[in-house]
Amino acid sequence: MEIACLDLEGVLVPEIWIGLAEQTGIDELRATTRDIPDYTQLMRQRLDLLAKHGLGNKDLQEVIGGLAPLPGAIEFVDWLRQRFQVVILSDTFYEFAKPLMRQLGWPTLLCHRLEIDASGKVTDFHLRQADPKRHAVMAFQGLNYRVIAAGDSYNDTTMLSQAEVGILFSAPDNVRDEFPQFAAVDTYQALQAEFLKASVEVDE
Ligand SMILES: [Mg+2]
Repeated sequence: MEIACLDLEGVLVPEIWIGLAEQTGIDELRATTRDIPDYTQLMRQRLDLLAKHGLGNKDLQEVIGGLAPLPGAIEFVDWLRQRFQVVILSDTFYEFAKPLMRQLGWPTLLCHRLEIDASGKVTDFHLRQADPKRHAVMAFQGLNYRVIAAGDSYNDTTMLSQAEVGILFSAPDNVRDEFPQFAAVDTYQALQAEFLKASVEVDE
């Protein structure tokens, strides 16, 4: 049995924090795991910036409500779900992802939670566990699933290494260069071909 594990941001939907930077004009919010590989450090910086600029959950929800999946992502997820069990492994937060997951048809999502106080201020964040994507893949393997995984960034590379087959999708050059062991593709058509190539059960 096989499971397909997908990253969310950069693979199926735009980078949520970059959307937020564009809407708010706060340029420092553009930093992602592509720039700062340590996610805790990156999130502390983001929450400090939100507090400094007085931005709360309501503002964040407004921006995210205006985002849409990447062109072709909905069709790609439909294609994949007809052939594999699909689980999205993300370092985003349930509070952020909901409007986008609705548009993707509510596939299973394993991610983190934000802590929001009564006034709507984002006060903290709770990571489900350390190295969560790799642990999810290991857990599926413990259930006798073979895992094919795709992601675009540093926070995906332990997931890709743990999976039976890891694929880079739309990854920046520094990630491709550092992890040449993974096939790297840039279109959903090519990603579909990589999933078919990686599968021992599905061939069309
Ligand atoms: Mg990503």
